[in-house]
Amino acid sequence: MEITLPPETTLQPSTQAFLDGSPKKLFINNEWVSAANGETFQTLNPATGEILAEAALAGQEDVDRAVRAAREAFESDAWRQMSGEDRGQLLWRLADLIDEHADELAELETLDNGKPLRVSRKGDIPFAAKHFRYYAGWAGKLEGATVPVSYPNQFVYTLREPVGVVGLIIPWNFPLLMAAWKLSPALACGNTVILKPAEETPLTALRLGELALEAGFPPGVINILTGPGEPTGAAIAAHPGIDKISFTGSTEVGRKILEASAKSNLKKVNIELGGKSPNVIFADADPAKAIKGAIWAIFSTAGQECVAGSRLFVERPVYEQVLEGLAGEAQKIRVGNGFAQKVHIGPLVSERQLERVIGYIDEGRRAGARIVTGGERLGGEFERGYFLAPTIFSSEDDELSIMREEVFGPVAVVTAFDDWDELVQRANDTRYGLAAGVWTQNLSKAHRFAQAVHAGTVWINSYGLFDAAAPFGGYKESGFGREMGKEALDLYTNSKTVWVGL
Ligand code: NDP
Repeated sequence: MEITLPPETTLQPSTQAFLDGSPKKLFINNEWVSAANGETFQTLNPATGEILAEAALAGQEDVDRAVRAAREAFESDAWRQMSGEDRGQLLWRLADLIDEHADELAELETLDNGKPLRVSRKGDIPFAAKHFRYYAGWAGKLEGATVPVSYPNQFVYTLREPVGVVGLIIPWNFPLLMAAWKLSPALACGNTVILKPAEETPLTALRLGELALEAGFPPGVINILTGPGEPTGAAIAAHPGIDKISFTGSTEVGRKILEASAKSNLKKVNIELGGKSPNVIFADADPAKAIKGAIWAIFSTAGQECVAGSRLFVERPVYEQVLEGLAGEAQKIRVGNGFAQKVHIGPLVSERQLERVIGYIDEGRRAGARIVTGGERLGGEFERGYFLAPTIFSSEDDELSIMREEVFGPVAVVTAFDDWDELVQRANDTRYGLAAGVWTQNLSKAHRFAQAVHAGTVWINSYGLFDAAAPFGGYKESGFGREMGKEALDLYTNSKTVWVGL
């Protein structure tokens, strides 16, 4: 496979070895196997359009096989009888291996997803290791409770038990990190898993499989199936042998996951879906901090974040000043190949995603929204990749598709507001409810906004921060269930109530 990199850039020998041209296989029962029907698909470098690798395309037979392996592992003494502390040790060992191989994992992430190498190396990869460590600490602390009841001579207590075989279906915007978000609590709680990465970005998940093998997880505890949403994801979602699905992705596919659960075995589901997050700048905010914060709230990861602050509400007295500041900052953003020096954002993940986003930009333009900066695909040296200029619209029309729908690209709409009631009404006028931001020096106002906005996460004078300890999830059509923090343990355990007649 040919990999074109910017001048004076080379890949680690281990990255080159991983991309040796041989088709990547499925990870089932601690073995690397081809798909039963021999099918494969290609994963591309979004910065150049070049093929990076071929990977096995898992079909129904492969899903059946992985489910059998996961079920056997779940029932096996090797996993069932393992103490929480020992499960924690395995997770900790995996975290250490992620850190030891961080350079290589970061390169694979940047090749496959496009994000800047610095972001992969300093953000996604170490953050993934942190998740495994955080949940390693919980593995031995899954307590039930004693429950006072109204009967004499009855002693009641609860146990927390793993749910069983869990399917983890993840998107392409944070490939290793999303895998870690879901794998670490699922494994800490004693489940066995089948992980399906997005077809656009399978590489780091597959490398993680190799590291899990090295860490010493028993056979069948972690299985990794690559392939597209249909057939691979759909077969996992519909499988009667799977007890639970944890899904992150679009609201449309979230609905399909729920339908598949309803039509099969009513498997438990948690879904983290799209967003259309309001980010608010009050006139009393520190302008420089608010402008920088708002820029990165929308443009980091080229806008391909579920929490992207894509609707920016600016109090009218400072509207023109803020808009000008935003345009200036957006024009300073360096877009380019993630391996190039000093690049801030990379390409969009795929041609399909680029076309989707350009479609929204064209619709916005046609509907009369004013483009303040950006709005076009980058050509010249960038023409083989899927690069888009950071784009800012100015508009007060809340009915535009760029104001209502998740664009998932570097596109912000900036709008002016006059008073509190208008702000709260417009900020909440969306089917989504994932996140929100507010910039003001008046903390009372900030807290009142945090209470008034319908969103699972609110950032005050900051944006886009995450931590393994801080719960995260949506209101409304952004989904349900809370990942991360102690609350994620509820997603991956069942509570059992035991009555003892004394
Ligand atoms: P999807 O929701 O299609 O993909 C998310 C995951 O679900 C992928 O692993 C995908 O597989 C899988 N999947 C797709 N169809 C099915 C199915 N029928 N049953 C089970 N699994 C399935 O997101 P897209 O990649 O298509 O992106 C489209 C839009 O979704 C984006 O523009 C954005 O608006 C939103 N999105 C939101 C994300 C978030 O973090 N909330 C993340 C990603 C996207 P595969 O990709 O291999 O086909």
